[in-house]
This record gives sequence, C-alpha cells and structure tokens, in this order.
Amino acid sequence: MDSVGAITVRFWGTRGSLPTPGPTTLRYGGNTCCVELRCGPHLVILDAGSGLRPFGLALQNARERVQADILLTHAHLDHICGLPFFGPIYSCHTALRIWSGHLTGARGIEATLRPSWNAPFMPDLGTAMRATLAFHDVETAAAWSLHPGLHVATTRLNHPGGATGYRVSWGGASVCYLTDTEHFPGGVDPALAEFAAHTDLLIYDTCYTDAEYETRVGWGHSTWRHGVALANAAHAGRLVLFHHDPGHDDDAMDAIAAEAEAARPGSIAAKDGMVLSLG
Ligand SMILES: [Zn+2]
Ligand SMILES: [Zn+2]
Repeated sequence: MDSVGAITVRFWGTRGSLPTPGPTTLRYGGNTCCVELRCGPHLVILDAGSGLRPFGLALQNARERVQADILLTHAHLDHICGLPFFGPIYSCHTALRIWSGHLTGARGIEATLRPSWNAPFMPDLGTAMRATLAFHDVETAAAWSLHPGLHVATTRLNHPGGATGYRVSWGGASVCYLTDTEHFPGGVDPALAEFAAHTDLLIYDTCYTDAEYETRVGWGHSTWRHGVALANAAHAGRLVLFHHDPGHDDDAMDAIAAEAEAARPGSIAAKDGMVLSLG
C-alpha cells in the first residue's frame, strides 16, 4: 500500500507444548510459541513462550526501548513461560500491554499470570519487574486498534479451556495467528474461514500428522492437512505450519513440510529464526 505497509514477521519460537532442545531439532528449533510482528514503528508479540527469551536478548543487544503489545492466545505454559525470562520486563523503560481474550468472566489474565512469577513457581520475580505493565481482558470476537492503522480482531478457537485467535492488520497487509485449535469433525469451520479470509499469512496449529491425530482427538490441536483446507477455504496467502509437536524431529518436520508444500504450493513450516516480509 505504501512504505509503511509492510509487516515483518519473525518467528522466535515455533514448537508446541514443551521446549524441545537438542541435536534432533537444531534446524527447526525447540522454543515454544513466540512471534514478532513489526508494523512500521509498532511492535506486536504473539504469545510469550520460551522463544520470548532470545527475543528479549536481541532487543537488549539492540538497546531498543521496548514498547510492545503482547497478544496471548491463552495461558497454557508453552505460551506464557517466557515472560519471567524476558529481559526488558525488568527495565523501567519498558512498557507492555498484555492482551488476553479467553479469561473474561473468570479470574482475568493479570490474576492468572502474576502467581506464575512468584513463589512457589518462581523466586518472587514479579516484584522485580520494573516495566509498566497493563493487562487487558477482551471479549470474544472483540476488535480494536492498538495504534492508528494497526487493527486487531479476535475469534474463539477450539481448545481445552478456550483460546483466542488473532488477526493483525497494518497498511493493507494482515497476519492470522490461529493456534492452539482443533478443527471440527466436519472439516473447515466456516466462521474461521471467514475470519481468515484473504489474509496474507495464515499461521496455523499443525501439531499432528493425520495418523497421530487419530489417537489425540479432543486434545485441541490440528493437522497440516486441515491447515491446507482452511487456507484454501479462506483464500489465504501463504500457510505457515506452526506449534510443532515435541515428538517431531527435523527429519519428521522436513517430511511434513514437503507434504504440505505439495498439497498447497508456498506452504512453509515455521522455524525458530525464520523471517517473512508482507506487503
Ligand atoms: Zn500450545
Ligand atoms: Zn494450549
């Protein structure tokens, strides 16, 4: 659209459920969910899994004064465990707005997160966090602007305990972030396809292969094949496979990525460190 239209997407953590370091996951990476979106001068962070730690180190190395919006899908540990290890959260120069969409009517995101930063889970790190933190619980299907021209829409995902999907739009480009979610038995959820309609980038929970899914029905995750079906139904741009199962080593991921690419050319399996530019 214009010079500020591009969204730059950097994947800091692409694994689901549990960090998975080691020699068999070197190429795809082992950190859990964390994606950086650069929308002109604005920083949006999708989930705060263990990938948030190396991201924080990079921000500190760049001496960047951090003002960011963190959009949390839900509070399962693989999506929040990076927050106490995010270096900038200990700086008084940092300001974070933390958004959550599935805890309204319950205890709310602040009351959910804070205990996980203190004893007995942590050595009372919460009191050492000097950043300005603002917590926001939003209703399902809420839509709002983080900054002028930077829009967020949400949708409900099919996951135990609930989860929120996000669509972030800036300068004519958009990213849909739909993890953790399980497809419905009948196939593509029309509401989800409508939510993701014509998005440039569809980041989708492709945790399982078809064979694995057979024994994991109800666990709240999907497959690359349903990711392809959703991307097609939504007329989406590129499909990004995401939330890789801890049991998938690099060779298994290569095979999954090749199958998805053959079924829908341009599809790609996310890797820690991967960067994509939109718009
Ligand atoms: Zn997860
Ligand atoms: Zn989850």
